[in-house]
Amino acid sequence: MNLILLSVSYFLASVLFVLGLSGLTKPKTARRGVGLAGVGMLLAVLATLLHQDIITYQWIIIGLIVGTLIGIPMGLWIPMTKMPERIALSHAFGGLAVALVGIAKYWSHLHVDGELSKFFMGAIGFEVVLGSLTFTGSLMAFGKLQGVISGKPMTFKGQNQFNFLIVVSSLVLLVYLVFHPHLSTAFFVMACLGFCLGIFLVLPIGGADMPVVICLLNSYAGLAAAAAGFALDNNVLIICGALDGGSGFLLAMLMSRAMNRSFRNVLFGAFGGEVGGDQVATQNKPILQFAPEDVMEYLQGSSSVVIVPGYGMAVAQAQHAVRELHELLEKNGTEVRYAIHPVAGRMPGHMNVLLAEANIPYEKLIEMDEINPDLPKVDACIVLGANDVVNPSARDDPKSSIYGMPIINADAARMVFVVKRSMASGFAGIDNPLFYKDNTRMVFGDAKAVLQNIVSKLKEAA
Ligand code: NDP
Repeated sequence: MNLILLSVSYFLASVLFVLGLSGLTKPKTARRGVGLAGVGMLLAVLATLLHQDIITYQWIIIGLIVGTLIGIPMGLWIPMTKMPERIALSHAFGGLAVALVGIAKYWSHLHVDGELSKFFMGAIGFEVVLGSLTFTGSLMAFGKLQGVISGKPMTFKGQNQFNFLIVVSSLVLLVYLVFHPHLSTAFFVMACLGFCLGIFLVLPIGGADMPVVICLLNSYAGLAAAAAGFALDNNVLIICGALDGGSGFLLAMLMSRAMNRSFRNVLFGAFGGEVGGDQVATQNKPILQFAPEDVMEYLQGSSSVVIVPGYGMAVAQAQHAVRELHELLEKNGTEVRYAIHPVAGRMPGHMNVLLAEANIPYEKLIEMDEINPDLPKVDACIVLGANDVVNPSARDDPKSSIYGMPIINADAARMVFVVKRSMASGFAGIDNPLFYKDNTRMVFGDAKAVLQNIVSKLKEAA
């Protein structure tokens, strides 16, 4: 393939990546966005393979088969609720690939080509340090989320100083290598420091902050790929890496803000305790309970209903039952809307994706800041498997660990139905005063089963 054709292919691939990314900003266009980015990647890979002087395709084909055998089951069978873990693993693979390419490139230049310019050495150094720290850091994040490693922050005295020392040592070695590229021992010590840095940066961060950390590691992987692009003189890698690096960093910052975590704390503090979810509320206050038929009767007389979906809706896969309830209520003249919290579920946009999958009209999904002023006028608010994102302690209790996190003011509605299986806490592992309010009725059970029950009762009554 000649150089012009290669440049045109890379340009087209880059345009497809940008279009793909912009498609991901709306659920309606997200599927198309993923498709466009996929075509872009295929084009970039094919153009690279046809342009380079490939000595043998044997290893490339073996890699393709192994990657496909691992990738397809990962994509098909890992449930949506395990997406952060899956993404952490993908980043680990990406980081390792980038680091290994950097090491191989350095080695071949040292022993075969002989030429190691300052610029090349600088780029390859960044690539190896960022790639190796992404690899081990992502494995740590995966281990914490999966429960293989304790989700508690693991700290020791002088941890931040120790990490700082590793960072400074890696940088000093990198600068040294730029001027003395033939000192391979320094290169390998620098690579080892990168691998250690990933471990020591992530271990002191609590499991609760792992999704933010994963986004940040995504950003490092992107920057490593961009550095690889400079080292390999590959424009599409530079563009793709920069897009990944920039978007990952922005997402990490936006998530920190939505969870009211200080970005600095997430990075350097022993913050965010063990992943909650299965802890039982300790308070023994009275609660009021409703059966699905009671809810059905109340909903029949309601003119406006707001549904607050949360992680439990994803676990129960209740989105299609939600759609059925939505349609029945609308037929009855009730206005139905959804209050979407930016960090409901376990990844950004989790609820939007599930509701879009059930063909809930996008205009019915209302952002938290927009729906909150309307909630006092709403007849019924159905909190469906959500917990932390409607916890009034975040608003009212300065001693609460989630104080300051913006919430959906579900308690402001005339009546609140909380659908969940027990009194267990949510991700933050804390009690929720909403459950004990006078206008709250607990409806215990699996979200999908409860909704199906309400739907069948509504149909019977119709
Ligand atoms: P929570 O994790 O706070 O609560 C989920 C609730 O769902 C639990 O209390 C659980 O109670 C209930 N539940 C679980 N399974 C079912 C089921 N089958 N049927 C009905 N209910 C069920 O979820 P939220 O969405 O309210 O909050 C998200 C949390 O995750 C926030 O703390 C956020 O900061 C955090 N987070 C979000 C990220 C994101 O990007 N979205 C990233 C990282 C963290 P029970 O067991 O009693 O049923």
